[in-house]
Amino acid sequence: MNTFADLGLSSKILKAITDKGYETPSPIQAQAIPPVLKGKDVLAAAQTGTGKTAGFTLPILHKLSENPTQNKRRVIRSLVLTPTRELAAQIKTNIDEYSSQIDFKSLVVFGGVGINPQINKLRAGIDMLVATPGRLLDLCQQNACDLSNIEILVLDEADRMLDMGFINDIKKVMKYIPTKRQTLLFSATFSKEIKIIAKQFLTNPVLVEVAAQNTTAERVEQRAYRCDQNTKAELAIHLIKQGEWNQVLVFTKTKHGANRLSTKLDNAGISSSAIHGNKSQGARERALQGFKNKSIRVLVATDIAARGLDIANLPYVINYELPNIPADYVHRIGRTGRAGESGEALSLVCNNERAFLKEIEKLINKKIPLLTEDGFTPELWPARMPSASEVQKEDAERKKQNRQNRGPRTRSSGNNQRPKTDKNNSPNSSKRSSSRRRRK
Ligand code: AMP
Repeated sequence: MNTFADLGLSSKILKAITDKGYETPSPIQAQAIPPVLKGKDVLAAAQTGTGKTAGFTLPILHKLSENPTQNKRRVIRSLVLTPTRELAAQIKTNIDEYSSQIDFKSLVVFGGVGINPQINKLRAGIDMLVATPGRLLDLCQQNACDLSNIEILVLDEADRMLDMGFINDIKKVMKYIPTKRQTLLFSATFSKEIKIIAKQFLTNPVLVEVAAQNTTAERVEQRAYRCDQNTKAELAIHLIKQGEWNQVLVFTKTKHGANRLSTKLDNAGISSSAIHGNKSQGARERALQGFKNKSIRVLVATDIAARGLDIANLPYVINYELPNIPADYVHRIGRTGRAGESGEALSLVCNNERAFLKEIEKLINKKIPLLTEDGFTPELWPARMPSASEVQKEDAERKKQNRQNRGPRTRSSGNNQRPKTDKNNSPNSSKRSSSRRRRK
């Protein structure tokens, strides 16, 4: 199957694909499109950057346009559930592009923006809905969204949705969807939890597995720089300036860290914006737009805010801080080197992050060259790498010190760490938070 036509897609869909400039199907598309067209449930291991969005959208559009509903009224026939607003918006954009040649209406709904315009658009009638789970549940509970005609359901980035605590919302939403339907589940990994979900929601799925996690890692040129914590910002500024890099996505662990770094970059004459869960939807979109049209040179993001960002030919990613979950590193560097392009990913590593680097190397099964930039030789780089417990102890010590220096506060600082995801950016960062705040 070398062409999209070989896969059995209709001429109108093929025209849209050609307009988009795609020549050959990516591996996930070649494997997923035929079973989806046949009406099978599909369980696919694929992450962002593999072309998975077209992998499910193209056959869905084909099926729905080839089998129009009997009555004239538009009803929601397909639903895509996805973890973040950015990813949801990106999928909607792709649906619009791929459906340019057919009579088709789609809508995206997510939290953080007014619900009433979404209700009005739903009332007007749509064929396909892309949603984050929290907002969709709100809409269902307000009887503003009829999911009883769903024929094809997609659970996109299911692993992330579970990580972000959406499982209960998803289960509740499922009650509004017919049990007789086709279900497609995409996930970067097949963890035990994903297998449980798959068993619950899918029937005899076809298993599609492409792009093992290290594929991205192989495509992207990676290196790391030793440094001290207190000279990291200077090193980042130095590398960006020296390399004359004009479009750089920088990852920090916390929202406050993102803001602080963005200010330092601006002060150094490097235009930047921070993007994270505390920013309004409008501010996020403006930042993303500025970054895409290159009026902003650096976008500083936390892991969750960066999910789903699709920036064509993004050349550079900097890990200002390494993530404590190695898989997040693969997700991060997957922002570059997309769709077969090459990219570079740099990590700034200080002494207490060496253990994370080791874990990452274990996951990607590859040694990342560790360099020292002239003028940034770390003062603290003992021959023996600190153990995980030493790093934790040091972290706790530093936090205590910070708290003492700051004096009493009414709100938590945002420098807390949590083992699974960026606590400050996770919608269910604490059991204390209300379910409304939880939703994205
Ligand atoms: P995704 O994994 O769906 O986020 O897609 C990653 C990127 O690959 C997006 O920019 C798509 O537009 C692009 N893409 C998807 N399919 C193809 C294809 N067959 N040929 C070239 N680019 C593609």
